[in-house]
This record gives sequence, C-alpha cells and structure tokens, in this order.
Amino acid sequence: MEGCLNTEKDVDKLIAKFESYKKQTHQTFEQLTQHIEKLQNELNVQDASTGLSASHRQLVTQTNKKLKSVGQKISGQHKDLHSSVSRIGKTIDRNFDAECGSINMHEILADHTHHSLFNRAICEHFYRQGSVSVAESIATDGNLEIDDKWRFPFIEMNEILENLQNRVVDPALMWSIRNKVQLQKEKSNLEFKLHRLKFIELIKLGPSHQHLAVAYAKKFQQFAPVQCQEIQQLMGCFLYVKRGLTESPYCDLLSEKMWNDICSDFLRDACRVTGLSVNSPLISSFSAGCQALPALLAIKSVIEQRQCSGALSNNDELPIDIDLDSCQHYHSVFACPILRQQTTVKNPPLRLVCGHVISRDALTKLVSGSKVKCPYCPVEQSPNDAKELHF
Ligand SMILES: [Zn+2]
Repeated sequence: MEGCLNTEKDVDKLIAKFESYKKQTHQTFEQLTQHIEKLQNELNVQDASTGLSASHRQLVTQTNKKLKSVGQKISGQHKDLHSSVSRIGKTIDRNFDAECGSINMHEILADHTHHSLFNRAICEHFYRQGSVSVAESIATDGNLEIDDKWRFPFIEMNEILENLQNRVVDPALMWSIRNKVQLQKEKSNLEFKLHRLKFIELIKLGPSHQHLAVAYAKKFQQFAPVQCQEIQQLMGCFLYVKRGLTESPYCDLLSEKMWNDICSDFLRDACRVTGLSVNSPLISSFSAGCQALPALLAIKSVIEQRQCSGALSNNDELPIDIDLDSCQHYHSVFACPILRQQTTVKNPPLRLVCGHVISRDALTKLVSGSKVKCPYCPVEQSPNDAKELHF
C-alpha cells in the first residue's frame, strides 16, 4: 500500500508539472503569434518596390532571434519533462517487486481441468457483473461448455438488480414470489420489503392514490405473523397521507438507504437461493492473493537461499501460515494436536469416544492391537468407534 501511495505522489507531481508546462507553452505561443501577426501587418503596409527599411530589417532579425530562443527554452522544458516521466518508472521499480510473476505456480494451470476451472471463474465473474458479452467471449475462447441453466441465474439476477437500482420493483417481486418457499427456508423477508417499497411509493402520491394504497395494504396480511411491528408502522403512514411523510415519525421509510439495502438484500438472498457465494470467487481469491503476496515473496527468497525450490511448487500446501483478514475466513480449520498438522480430506479429524479429537493419521499411529488409548484422558477404546468430523 505504501508503494502505491509513493507512486501516486510522484505521478501527481508529474501531472502538475505537465499542466503548468501546457499552460506556459500555450501562453508563449499566443504571445509569439501576436508578435508575428503585428510584424506581418507592419510589413504589409510597406511599399513592396522600396524593399525593407533598416528599422524593419532590425525588427525581423530580432523576431528571428526571439523565435530561436523560445524554441530552445521549450525543447529544454520538454527534455526535463521526459526525464520526470522516466523517473516514474524508477519509482515503480523501487516501490514494487518486479519479480511478482516469479511466484506463479505454472504447474497448477498446466493441468487442463484446473485451467478450465480458472477460465470458468473468470467467466462467472463477468456474468455476475452483467458483462454478458465479455463472459461469452471468454467462454468461446476458453472452449468452455456453458449451458443456459448455468448462466441464466446470473443474467436474471443482473436484470433484476438493474431494475431495482432504477427503482423498478416488479421483476424482483416476481422473482421472490416464485422462490417463496426457499426464501422462507432462509428466513428471508425480501418479499415483504419489496411490497413495503411499493406501498410507500403509493403513499407518496398523496390523497388521490390513497384508495390504491389501502387496497395494496391487504398484501401485508400474509406477513402479519412475522412482520407485525413493521406492518403497524406502515399503517401509521395513512395518518400522514395529506401532510406527507417527510415531517412524520415515519420519514425513515423515505430514506435512500431503503433502496440501497434492498439491492444488497436481493443479491444476498438470490445468491443463497441459487447456491452461489455473495462475493465473486475471483475477486475473493485476488484480494487474498494480494494480501499473501509479500509473505509469498519472502518465502520464495528464503527457499532460493536454501536451494529447496521444490518446497513451494511441489506441494499443495504453503510451507508457512499466512494470516488473512477475518472476512477471508470461510470455514474453520482443524489442526491435529498430536501431529501438529492441519487436517485434510485424506487425513480428516476424528472424534474419539471420550470426546477428544485427533487426526486419522495420529489415530493410526496410536493403535496398538485392536485398541487405542486416547493420548489425553486416556480412555481405552476401539479405533472403529471414532467418528469423522466435518467442519
Ligand atoms: Zn480422550
């Protein structure tokens, strides 16, 4: 981050220099043009047959000299600008590690399956963002088989979001009614919130539309068991139809936040219902990578010094732990207290009868005959009674 700030500072300085150079040059050219035009006018009134007078000749020579010196000055400034631009390159070299690419693990993407998964992640990212044509080009170039069933939820989600951003509620409402059962399972109140927005819009139209608001209010009946308090609030709005909600105790219902919230609520619920993560996996991996990069570069230099280059590339685990922000933690991990290793799919955590948890490899090592003694309590038990745990 510090590197970015340093570079930004230098770039800002350069931009300021460019601006002042541009302004100065423009002024100089203006003055020169005026000067030459004046000279031209004076020469034009002169009788051509008599030739130039001595004073005019001197004037032309002076102008020539001036032009030359201005030209030299401008080219000097131009050279100075050039060197400032090349200094930015040096700032970038100084603040960033040019060797970032060297920690790429090319072997990982050499595998066809991994490569197509990677392309799929990029493709999904663009579908998520609503850049359908970009996503489709990537799918074609990467020979990805994208069926409509897979891409449809992204396209639909984007269309609905776009509508919500333009304060058009109906597509989202239709979607939430269609997915009512799943949304209820997720304890989502999206449908209620969408109806509430439509209701408020009707209230805002004033007494002439009050009958429509009353008719719409009947839709809230179905939500009464869960949203009772919110519905009471909405009914209170009827008292302020004439005076307007702005000065009422319910003015919060008019806030911009309601619309921003509904967009994020819809995105979250739509992702849950369709089984997608709320954040783009590509962005999540990228930001995790950015955080891990300094540590990875440090490991790389240590590995190079100790000449054990295989440690980084031949392993699907990093040789050290790299701490990421808590928002990057997606599931808890379990490290075996006996072997001091993180458990994996092949070596899962097992719960012993006594309640203590160790990894399968540790259990195998501890078995003697058909019995195993818990290394903590130590209760003797059959290794077959241990149960696999899933975090
Ligand atoms: Zn035990």
